[in-house]
Amino acid sequence: MSDSAEPTVAGVKQQLLDVAQEMLTSGLVQGTAGNVAARLPDGNVVLTPSSVDYLTMTLDDLVVCSLDGEVVEGHRGPTSEKALHLSALRRYPEINATMHCHAKHCTMFALTRRPIPAVIEEFVVYVGGDVPVAAYETTGSDELAEEVAGHVADRSAVLMANHGLFAVGKNTADVMHIAGLVERTAEIVWGAQRLGEIVPLPPETNAQFAGYYRYGRTGKF
Ligand SMILES: [Zn+2]
Repeated sequence: MSDSAEPTVAGVKQQLLDVAQEMLTSGLVQGTAGNVAARLPDGNVVLTPSSVDYLTMTLDDLVVCSLDGEVVEGHRGPTSEKALHLSALRRYPEINATMHCHAKHCTMFALTRRPIPAVIEEFVVYVGGDVPVAAYETTGSDELAEEVAGHVADRSAVLMANHGLFAVGKNTADVMHIAGLVERTAEIVWGAQRLGEIVPLPPETNAQFAGYYRYGRTGKF
């Protein structure tokens, strides 16, 4: 499907399954960890199920919930991080896909509770600025969902303290790209910090590129 085609319920479900498998094969998670959600054209949300192997997962394993979290379709339980995804999708109507993963270098920053600095131009355009660290809350809780979702109002990624990464995007391909870019940047920053002090981008460049992110997300500068 091209980007310009109107999404269909079946199309978005297939995209969600594809991106969940890509999340595993690209190394952003291991085993059945991580989860992905996408807004369907009918307003409901399709989510990955709890504890199903990504490589054998089929469309039939996916779970559809209302934005309020009521299961409307599917024979499996939704991901235990359902509240996290729904909280972001409720708050931000321009966001249509969300991903939570345990990418290695992102999790290193999450353990030390250090933001990933916006020091690469491309990164600012796609992420909007530094990737902040949301305060620690227990996995799967409504408190975690509220805390994490609050950090992605003006950027596409946030670290979850002592846990991993949460990313938001316009569609499943976009959110996969963002999660991969943030992980790649976390690795580069981690390596660069060993070589020496990182030189920040000029503040005006960061402001300009953050504006491009806002425009790409909302259509407004
Ligand atoms: Zn997790």
